Amino acid sequence: MTAPTGAEQARREQLRDRLAAVHERIALACADCGRDPEEVTLIVVTKYFPASDVLLLHDLGVNHFGENRDQEAGEKFDQVRNALSGAGDPGPTLHFIGQLQTNKAAHVARYADVIQSVDRPKLVGAVAKGAQASHRTVQVLLQVSLDGDTSRGGVLPEDATALADAVAAHQLLRLRGVMAVAPLESDPDAAFARLREVADGIRSRHPGADWISAGMSGDLEAGLRHGATHLRVGTAILGSRPSLL
Ligand SMILES: *Cc1c(COP(=O)(O)O)cnc(C)c1O
Repeated sequence: MTAPTGAEQARREQLRDRLAAVHERIALACADCGRDPEEVTLIVVTKYFPASDVLLLHDLGVNHFGENRDQEAGEKFDQVRNALSGAGDPGPTLHFIGQLQTNKAAHVARYADVIQSVDRPKLVGAVAKGAQASHRTVQVLLQVSLDGDTSRGGVLPEDATALADAVAAHQLLRLRGVMAVAPLESDPDAAFARLREVADGIRSRHPGADWISAGMSGDLEAGLRHGATHLRVGTAILGSRPSLL
């Protein structure tokens, strides 16, 4: 180990402070709606940020990370896992949260532990193939579209049950629940209330599918009010991302 540079030390302190602030928001929001913060999983979204930030955050106790682009995620988490394996650490859990093209799905299934963005039948078969090729079980969330517009991804609520059944039919896929992004310029409470109805419908058929991934930097409190078990927080911890690549 080399001693951390001043810049590394400063980044570590910044991430530590912002992480603590987010945990504080979660604790307050949970207190407001009578929930136990221990039942909430914080996924830190590290897209656009380097493996070194993932390692710092992991060292600060973060065990769940989110990424949304195949190539970036695959390379970054290879680096992360290689860096940690020497210390006997199996590494953190990686959640893939981005729109997924069918031709990338099998690749993502090789390194992601959870794919949160399954939103159409074709993708189910592709993810299952990837899981089989790499002899792994992949946990799956259905991404639900809450504004009737599927152009940014997401299955319509009325089609979610059939898609859930399709996931559950695969031996190497484990259906865990639902994910959604609140539509822009809409009330996140209304959106997440709708998501919860969809989640309840799926859970009544698939009792193990009890995760609700809802709430980001700007609306995590709303997510928690409507039963979120998983939050996906990027900006509030890592800072703002470059606006365009
Ligand atoms: C980028 C992203 C997030 C994190 O958003 P922030 O506003 O930076 O917290 C959460 N969910 C998805 C699907 C994302 O793409």
